[in-house]
Amino acid sequence: MEHHDIVIIGGGPAGLTLALELNALGIKDVVVLEREQEAGGIPRHCGHLGFGIDNKNRFLTGPKFATKLRELTNGLDIRTGTTVLEFTLRGTMRLHSGSGISEMSARRIVLATGTRESSRAARLIGGNRLPGVMNTGTFQQLVYLKHQKPFSNPVIVGSEWVSFSNLLTCRHAKIKPVCMITESTNLNAPSYFSLGARLAFGVSVKRSTKLLSINGHIKVESVDVESGGQKQTIACDGVIISGKFRSENGLYSSGVIEQENTAPLTTDTYRTSKPNIYAVGNVLGHLETAGACMLHGRKLATIIASELR
Ligand SMILES: Cc1cc2nc3c(=O)[nH]c(=O)nc-3n(C[C@H](O)[C@H](O)[C@H](O)COP(=O)(O)OP(=O)(O)OC[C@H]3O[C@@H](n4cnc5c(N)ncnc54)[C@H](O)[C@@H]3O)c2cc1C
Repeated sequence: MEHHDIVIIGGGPAGLTLALELNALGIKDVVVLEREQEAGGIPRHCGHLGFGIDNKNRFLTGPKFATKLRELTNGLDIRTGTTVLEFTLRGTMRLHSGSGISEMSARRIVLATGTRESSRAARLIGGNRLPGVMNTGTFQQLVYLKHQKPFSNPVIVGSEWVSFSNLLTCRHAKIKPVCMITESTNLNAPSYFSLGARLAFGVSVKRSTKLLSINGHIKVESVDVESGGQKQTIACDGVIISGKFRSENGLYSSGVIEQENTAPLTTDTYRTSKPNIYAVGNVLGHLETAGACMLHGRKLATIIASELR
């Protein structure tokens, strides 16, 4: 079985920056395990501007930002196409890669697995299971990575920053959303976003509006919503269910470390309840910018380096 000083699970901005900084601090036996075929994390499929190294000059698109990060980490031991499946009782990790199942152990393990949007099932939305219903991440991957147009007139559910980013992706793919809906009375993004959505994209945001069901036979035909006690049917051919991020907790949900609302419980030095396991980046439960996750990665590198000296 392979053994390393440090194994980082997740090759997004947090994990890659941690590996880069550990290397700069003289810690060389570091492996990054990334399940996708290419490292870079979520920015790989965010085709809009707003990304900057260390949060400075945020004029890069997500893919350009991810490419820059990958260039910086050239030469480091980054293993893509490698998914960590679970922690074993003996404290090792079980991995799946092109060469099959294997085990790996490490003196220190860092979870940098990010977050994902809550599923339709978790939000208890009724109706049929139909193609054309997806979260922001899948929508972005289809548009920016696979160059597909999954629908023409979707309804966007949610009012977080990420919900509004769908307007940019829609524009890129020549898709015209019917409207945005949110259960809240206030937006979960700056209130001027609503004005921007209307003026710049011709899309109105319906507040205090709950999605009841998604209707259709072989494809989405409409959604039923409820607002102020009134039920209404809105014609559309797709639904983007956005936001309500949860930590990517599949790996540790079996109780290997303590967690709260799916995020690992950590100290202010990123240590989880298991002393040799740390967590950094969005897996901690807050959706921060990629630049902020880089800064956390850098901070954790300094902490680990000083512990190892
Ligand atoms: C739609 C959207 C728009 C955004 N726009 C901006 C923006 O304009 N500017 C900005 O700065 N930030 C933006 N962000 C936020 C930014 O993308 C995140 O803050 C950043 O990507 C988080 O970095 P991370 O390394 O913590 O996690 P991620 O980027 O999520 O990376 C985690 C990595 O871990 C891998 N992984 C997960 N589980 C496993 C496993 N079991 N085994 C192996 N690998 C695994 C994943 O494949 C992934 O590559 C946006 C986010 C979203 C969702």
